[in-house]
Amino acid sequence: MAFVIDGKKISQEIKEELKEQVTALREEGKEIALAVIQVGEDPASSVYVGNKKKACAYIGIRSESYELPETVTQEELIALIERLNRDDKINGILVQLPLPDHIDEDAVIKSIAPSKDVDGFHPESVGALLIGQAGFLPCTPAGIIQLLKRSNIEITGKECVVIGRSNIVGKPMAVLLLRENGTVTITHSRTRNLKEVCKRADILVVAVGKPKMINREYVKEGATVIDVGIHRNAENKLCGDVDYEDVFPVAGAITPVPGGVGPMTIAMLMNNCVSGAMH
Ligand code: NAD
Repeated sequence: MAFVIDGKKISQEIKEELKEQVTALREEGKEIALAVIQVGEDPASSVYVGNKKKACAYIGIRSESYELPETVTQEELIALIERLNRDDKINGILVQLPLPDHIDEDAVIKSIAPSKDVDGFHPESVGALLIGQAGFLPCTPAGIIQLLKRSNIEITGKECVVIGRSNIVGKPMAVLLLRENGTVTITHSRTRNLKEVCKRADILVVAVGKPKMINREYVKEGATVIDVGIHRNAENKLCGDVDYEDVFPVAGAITPVPGGVGPMTIAMLMNNCVSGAMH
């Protein structure tokens, strides 16, 4: 039977720590502000943006909302970002993805000043991560490292297997596990013998984007299983990329969905806002 890694509890601990730091900064006369830009009215994006603004309010970070119409041009969006880059009162800039098809996401991400890139998606942030220099870490993988550390799960020397090679989860996850001295394998849609590779893992991070794909046949007895996936089934119930009920009896530790990785992403975004303002 697995130990359940409680992302809700751990994210709350982090938010309380940040609240204290923000209060201390405010006593020194320093206010932290995050600019949140949403283009269009995609309902899922609106929920994410709403949750981010709520977390800001809880911690004491001022959030400035920019709700732009679906028809906004790339030039107009980048002009807004450039203005926010120059605004000394803004510490972080977040552009909620995905953007409409007529806007080049890479160009938009590149226009954010690396010093305000709290999502950690700018090529300069990604490069800094790879060579171990200071910079903003992408929130979901950074949150997973916190889940492991705060649950006393050792990474050094462990076989770590990541399923998925996306720029926002899989690749940075692998680099962060490497930074923590794990022995890291990245797997993807062209990997042969996925089950055998996964079965080697002491720590298995699943970011494959397919509901309940990973069952106990992929999991070594006693392994730690981190489920990044978020899906909603026909009854509007959330599930992950891991078949939780099937894996639970064989894993050593496991993250649930909801209440595992999800809450950590926002906590780490808040952490980036605060740490950015402190340097
Ligand atoms: P993605 O679709 O960009 O990447 C999926 C990856 O899985 C790809 O690299 C692909 O090569 C690999 N893959 C696909 N089919 C495979 C197969 N059969 N075998 C092995 N590998 C395969 O997805 P993403 O953006 O990395 O997100 C992954 C999941 O995590 C999604 O469910 C997403 O909703 C969720 N997510 C959650 C959070 C969070 O805060 N919890 C954040 C980001 C993403």
